[in-house]
Amino acid sequence: MITLALSKGRIFDDTLPLLKAAGIEVLEDPEKSRKLILTTNLPDVRVLVVRATDVPTYVQYGGADLGITGKDTLLEHGSEGLYQPLDLQIAKCRISVAVRADFDYASAVKQGSRLTVATKYVAIAREFFATKGVHVDLIKLYGSMELAPLTGLADAIVDLVSTGNTLKANHLVEVEHIMEISSRLVVNQAALKLKQESIRRIIDAFSAAVKLANP
Ligand code: AMP
Repeated sequence: MITLALSKGRIFDDTLPLLKAAGIEVLEDPEKSRKLILTTNLPDVRVLVVRATDVPTYVQYGGADLGITGKDTLLEHGSEGLYQPLDLQIAKCRISVAVRADFDYASAVKQGSRLTVATKYVAIAREFFATKGVHVDLIKLYGSMELAPLTGLADAIVDLVSTGNTLKANHLVEVEHIMEISSRLVVNQAALKLKQESIRRIIDAFSAAVKLANP
Protein backbone atom coordinates (compact mmCIF):
# COMPACT_ATOMS: atom_id res chain seq x y z
CA MET A 1 0.00 0.00 0.00
CA ILE A 2 1.21 3.50 -0.87
CA THR A 3 -0.05 6.39 1.30
CA LEU A 4 -0.09 9.91 -0.10
CA ALA A 5 -0.55 12.88 2.29
CA LEU A 6 -2.28 15.88 0.71
CA SER A 7 -2.61 19.40 2.09
CA LYS A 8 -6.07 20.76 2.92
CA GLY A 9 -7.18 24.15 1.69
CA ARG A 10 -5.90 26.07 -1.32
CA ILE A 11 -3.31 23.50 -2.33
CA PHE A 12 -5.93 20.75 -2.33
CA ASP A 13 -8.02 22.40 -5.05
CA ASP A 14 -4.98 22.53 -7.34
CA THR A 15 -3.88 19.03 -6.38
CA LEU A 16 -6.94 17.07 -7.54
CA PRO A 17 -6.58 17.88 -11.28
CA LEU A 18 -2.86 17.07 -11.12
CA LEU A 19 -3.60 13.78 -9.35
CA LYS A 20 -6.15 12.94 -12.01
CA ALA A 21 -3.65 13.69 -14.78
CA ALA A 22 -1.23 11.38 -12.95
CA GLY A 23 -3.88 8.63 -13.05
CA ILE A 24 -4.98 8.84 -9.40
CA GLU A 25 -8.62 9.63 -8.66
CA VAL A 26 -9.83 10.15 -5.12
CA LEU A 27 -13.11 8.23 -4.83
CA GLU A 28 -14.65 10.16 -1.93
CA ASP A 29 -15.24 13.88 -1.55
CA PRO A 30 -13.13 14.96 1.45
CA GLU A 31 -15.42 17.99 1.93
CA LYS A 32 -18.38 15.66 2.51
CA SER A 33 -16.75 12.54 3.86
CA ARG A 34 -15.82 12.41 7.54
CA LYS A 35 -13.28 9.76 6.74
CA LEU A 36 -9.67 10.82 7.11
CA ILE A 37 -8.24 8.12 4.89
CA LEU A 38 -9.65 8.18 1.38
CA THR A 39 -9.57 5.43 -1.22
CA THR A 40 -8.54 5.99 -4.83
CA ASN A 41 -9.16 4.25 -8.14
CA LEU A 42 -5.84 2.45 -7.61
CA PRO A 43 -6.30 -0.35 -5.07
CA ASP A 44 -2.75 0.09 -3.73
CA VAL A 45 -2.89 3.90 -3.31
CA ARG A 46 -4.71 5.72 -0.49
CA VAL A 47 -4.84 9.39 0.41
CA LEU A 48 -4.72 11.29 3.71
CA VAL A 49 -5.93 14.92 3.77
CA VAL A 50 -4.13 16.82 6.53
CA ARG A 51 -3.09 20.37 7.39
CA ALA A 52 -0.35 21.59 5.05
CA THR A 53 2.00 22.06 8.00
CA ASP A 54 1.50 18.41 9.06
CA VAL A 55 2.41 16.93 5.66
CA PRO A 56 6.22 17.03 6.21
CA THR A 57 5.76 15.37 9.62
CA TYR A 58 3.65 12.52 8.21
CA VAL A 59 6.15 11.89 5.43
CA GLN A 60 9.26 12.27 7.61
CA TYR A 61 8.08 9.70 10.13
CA GLY A 62 6.63 7.32 7.55
CA GLY A 63 2.93 7.91 8.37
CA ALA A 64 2.73 8.60 4.64
CA ASP A 65 5.11 7.51 1.86
CA LEU A 66 4.66 10.64 -0.22
CA GLY A 67 3.18 14.07 0.32
CA ILE A 68 2.31 17.33 -1.38
CA THR A 69 2.99 20.59 0.41
CA GLY A 70 4.13 24.16 -0.22
CA LYS A 71 7.76 25.23 -0.40
CA ASP A 72 6.86 27.75 2.35
CA THR A 73 5.91 24.90 4.69
CA LEU A 74 9.04 22.90 3.83
CA LEU A 75 11.32 25.87 4.49
CA GLU A 76 9.56 26.71 7.73
CA HIS A 77 9.31 23.14 8.99
CA GLY A 78 12.67 21.94 7.72
CA SER A 79 12.92 19.09 5.23
CA GLU A 80 15.27 16.68 6.96
CA GLY A 81 14.82 13.11 5.77
CA LEU A 82 12.61 14.16 2.87
CA TYR A 83 13.47 13.51 -0.74
CA GLN A 84 12.04 16.30 -2.92
CA PRO A 85 11.98 15.03 -6.48
CA LEU A 86 9.53 17.44 -8.09
CA ASP A 87 8.27 21.01 -8.22
CA LEU A 88 4.59 20.38 -9.01
CA GLN A 89 4.09 24.00 -10.17
CA ILE A 90 0.71 24.25 -8.45
CA ALA A 91 -0.62 26.67 -5.77
CA LYS A 92 1.88 29.21 -7.04
CA CYS A 93 2.24 32.36 -5.03
CA ARG A 94 4.98 34.49 -3.50
CA ILE A 95 6.05 35.26 0.01
CA SER A 96 6.30 38.97 0.60
CA VAL A 97 6.72 41.71 3.16
CA ALA A 98 3.72 44.05 3.40
CA VAL A 99 3.04 47.18 5.42
CA ARG A 100 0.26 49.73 5.83
CA ALA A 101 0.08 52.01 2.81
CA ASP A 102 1.00 54.97 5.05
CA PHE A 103 4.06 53.30 6.61
CA ASP A 104 7.42 54.51 5.22
CA TYR A 105 9.17 51.15 5.02
CA ALA A 106 12.14 52.39 2.95
CA SER A 107 13.02 55.04 5.56
CA ALA A 108 12.52 52.67 8.48
CA VAL A 109 14.93 50.18 6.88
CA LYS A 110 17.44 52.88 5.89
CA GLN A 111 17.48 54.44 9.34
CA GLY A 112 18.28 51.07 10.85
CA SER A 113 15.25 51.18 13.14
CA ARG A 114 13.97 47.93 14.62
CA LEU A 115 10.99 46.62 12.73
CA THR A 116 8.29 44.57 14.39
CA VAL A 117 7.21 41.84 11.98
CA ALA A 118 4.24 39.55 12.50
CA THR A 119 4.19 36.26 10.62
CA LYS A 120 3.44 32.58 10.52
CA TYR A 121 6.80 32.22 8.70
CA VAL A 122 9.22 33.07 11.48
CA ALA A 123 12.18 31.11 10.05
CA ILE A 124 11.79 32.55 6.54
CA ALA A 125 11.36 36.09 7.90
CA ARG A 126 14.33 35.78 10.28
CA GLU A 127 16.61 34.59 7.47
CA PHE A 128 15.40 37.27 5.03
CA PHE A 129 15.86 40.23 7.38
CA ALA A 130 19.18 38.88 8.71
CA THR A 131 20.53 38.75 5.13
CA LYS A 132 19.40 42.36 4.63
CA GLY A 133 20.96 43.40 7.94
CA VAL A 134 17.63 44.69 9.25
CA HIS A 135 16.94 44.25 12.97
CA VAL A 136 13.53 42.71 13.57
CA ASP A 137 11.36 41.66 16.46
CA LEU A 138 9.30 38.73 15.23
CA ILE A 139 5.80 38.00 16.47
CA LYS A 140 4.45 34.55 15.65
CA LEU A 141 0.85 34.44 14.42
CA TYR A 142 -1.17 31.50 13.10
CA GLY A 143 -3.51 33.34 10.73
CA SER A 144 -5.07 36.66 9.60
CA MET A 145 -1.67 38.32 9.60
CA GLU A 146 -3.13 41.32 7.76
CA LEU A 147 -4.63 42.45 11.05
CA ALA A 148 -1.27 43.00 12.71
CA PRO A 149 -0.26 46.29 11.00
CA LEU A 150 -3.87 47.53 11.16
CA THR A 151 -4.07 47.15 14.92
CA GLY A 152 -0.56 48.39 15.71
CA LEU A 153 0.63 44.91 16.70
CA ALA A 154 3.40 45.08 14.07
CA ASP A 155 4.96 47.39 11.47
CA ALA A 156 5.06 44.72 8.81
CA ILE A 157 3.92 41.21 7.97
CA VAL A 158 5.51 38.37 6.03
CA ASP A 159 2.80 36.38 4.26
CA LEU A 160 1.84 34.52 1.12
CA VAL A 161 0.42 36.68 -1.66
CA SER A 162 -1.37 35.28 -4.66
CA THR A 163 -3.64 37.83 -6.40
CA GLY A 164 -2.85 40.60 -3.90
CA ASN A 165 -6.58 41.09 -3.23
CA THR A 166 -6.35 40.35 0.49
CA LEU A 167 -3.62 42.98 0.95
CA LYS A 168 -5.55 45.53 -1.12
CA ALA A 169 -8.78 44.94 0.82
CA ASN A 170 -6.88 45.72 4.02
CA HIS A 171 -4.99 48.79 2.69
CA LEU A 172 -1.66 47.02 2.82
CA VAL A 173 1.10 47.22 0.20
CA GLU A 174 3.79 44.76 -0.77
CA VAL A 175 7.24 46.23 -0.19
CA GLU A 176 9.52 43.21 -0.62
CA HIS A 177 9.21 40.07 -2.62
CA ILE A 178 11.03 37.35 -0.65
CA MET A 179 10.62 34.34 -2.95
CA GLU A 180 8.37 32.45 -5.33
CA ILE A 181 6.43 29.57 -3.79
CA SER A 182 4.84 26.47 -5.30
CA SER A 183 3.93 23.02 -4.07
CA ARG A 184 6.44 20.17 -4.00
CA LEU A 185 6.24 16.39 -4.01
CA VAL A 186 8.07 14.98 -1.00
CA VAL A 187 8.98 11.35 -0.41
CA ASN A 188 10.00 9.37 2.66
CA GLN A 189 13.54 8.20 1.96
CA ALA A 190 13.14 4.78 3.56
CA ALA A 191 9.90 4.18 1.64
CA LEU A 192 11.69 5.11 -1.57
CA LYS A 193 14.07 2.20 -0.97
CA LEU A 194 11.52 -0.30 0.34
CA LYS A 195 8.74 0.41 -2.17
CA GLN A 196 10.98 1.62 -4.97
CA GLU A 197 8.98 0.38 -7.92
CA SER A 198 5.57 1.70 -6.82
CA ILE A 199 6.96 5.05 -5.67
CA ARG A 200 9.02 5.56 -8.84
CA ARG A 201 5.87 4.85 -10.87
CA ILE A 202 4.01 7.59 -8.96
CA ILE A 203 6.88 10.10 -9.25
CA ASP A 204 7.07 9.45 -13.02
CA ALA A 205 3.28 9.88 -13.37
CA PHE A 206 3.42 13.21 -11.51
CA SER A 207 6.38 14.30 -13.60
CA ALA A 208 4.46 13.58 -16.82
CA ALA A 209 1.36 15.38 -15.45
CA VAL A 210 3.43 18.48 -14.55
CA LYS A 211 4.94 18.54 -18.06
CA LEU A 212 1.49 18.19 -19.61
CA ALA A 213 0.12 21.09 -17.53
CA ASN A 214 3.17 23.33 -18.21
CA PRO A 215 4.11 22.80 -21.84
P1 AMP B 1 -4.59 36.71 -2.33
O1 AMP B 1 -5.68 37.59 -1.79
O2 AMP B 1 -5.00 35.97 -3.58
O3 AMP B 1 -3.29 37.47 -2.55
O4 AMP B 1 -4.30 35.56 -1.26
C1 AMP B 1 -3.72 35.89 -0.04
C2 AMP B 1 -4.25 35.02 1.07
O5 AMP B 1 -4.34 33.67 0.72
C3 AMP B 1 -3.30 35.09 2.26
O6 AMP B 1 -4.05 35.01 3.44
C4 AMP B 1 -2.42 33.86 2.05
O7 AMP B 1 -1.93 33.37 3.28
C5 AMP B 1 -3.34 32.89 1.34
N1 AMP B 1 -2.65 32.16 0.25
C6 AMP B 1 -2.36 32.65 -0.97
N2 AMP B 1 -1.76 31.74 -1.75
C7 AMP B 1 -1.67 30.63 -1.00
C8 AMP B 1 -1.14 29.30 -1.23
N3 AMP B 1 -0.58 28.94 -2.39
N4 AMP B 1 -1.22 28.42 -0.22
C9 AMP B 1 -1.78 28.75 0.95
N5 AMP B 1 -2.29 29.98 1.24
C10 AMP B 1 -2.25 30.90 0.28
